[in-house]
Amino acid sequence: MSLPRLTLFEAGASQALDALAHRGGSFRHIRFPAMFALIEHPTVGPILFDTGYSHRFEEETRVLPAKLYALITRVTVTDDELAVARLARRGLQPSDVRTVVISHFHADHIGAIAMFPRANYRFMREAWDGVRHLRGLRAVAAAFLPGLLPTDFEERARPIDADPEVDLPSELAPFRRGIDLVGDGTVVAVSLPGHAHGQIGLVVRHEGGLTFLVADACFTSRAFTEGVLPSRMTRILHPDQRAYEATIQRLGDVHRASPDVVIVPSHCTESLARHGSR
Ligand SMILES: [Zn+2]
Repeated sequence: MSLPRLTLFEAGASQALDALAHRGGSFRHIRFPAMFALIEHPTVGPILFDTGYSHRFEEETRVLPAKLYALITRVTVTDDELAVARLARRGLQPSDVRTVVISHFHADHIGAIAMFPRANYRFMREAWDGVRHLRGLRAVAAAFLPGLLPTDFEERARPIDADPEVDLPSELAPFRRGIDLVGDGTVVAVSLPGHAHGQIGLVVRHEGGLTFLVADACFTSRAFTEGVLPSRMTRILHPDQRAYEATIQRLGDVHRASPDVVIVPSHCTESLARHGSR
């Protein structure tokens, strides 16, 4: 069986205090890339995991209350960094992408989903149910900007809940079960509770090995390599803090037991530098 090719890209970045992302860190702003992944599957074609930011994010945050979001996160994204530009340099048109997997509905993950006119959207129903009715300040407080969704989002939405459940490779223990999105075990969604309602990561078996894309299960790899958690202030962002910390604990277990599994949080500069595309 030929395996998919996995490439990690950055589509824009935001700025946040080091001390917010890392308990005990400095009061200096550091840059957090917004990552997305391209999985080029030999039979299914290109699959995206999240999309990063787009210029649409800037448009959607021009006026209050959404402007608050832009003021706090200080987002930058250049034309060259856009997901569509990254893919174009790989010879892919937006219409080539038939599947966009959404880890969760925070704006830095769905910023460009409207740019793919023929894609279906795959996500946990709980993730969508957690935000679908939010508008105005309540949406901003949940880092959700409804204007980022294409107008036909609901017609193209394909929740993954009814797809087949499978056992994960033993290297992923204590994560045991996932949802097979392609049918051959190469792209398997895994529940990562705590950070946002219904958040999922993806376990990808690809040419280069086994990679676990863990979205915002933690800010950076320091959470599971060194046990450095984010500031207690970030608790207000999480619907379930206990589950958030338990998920990080489990990622640490995978990291220690199976160091060959590459664990990639979406905003980790070090992971992107080591495993991302230039
Ligand atoms: Zn998030």
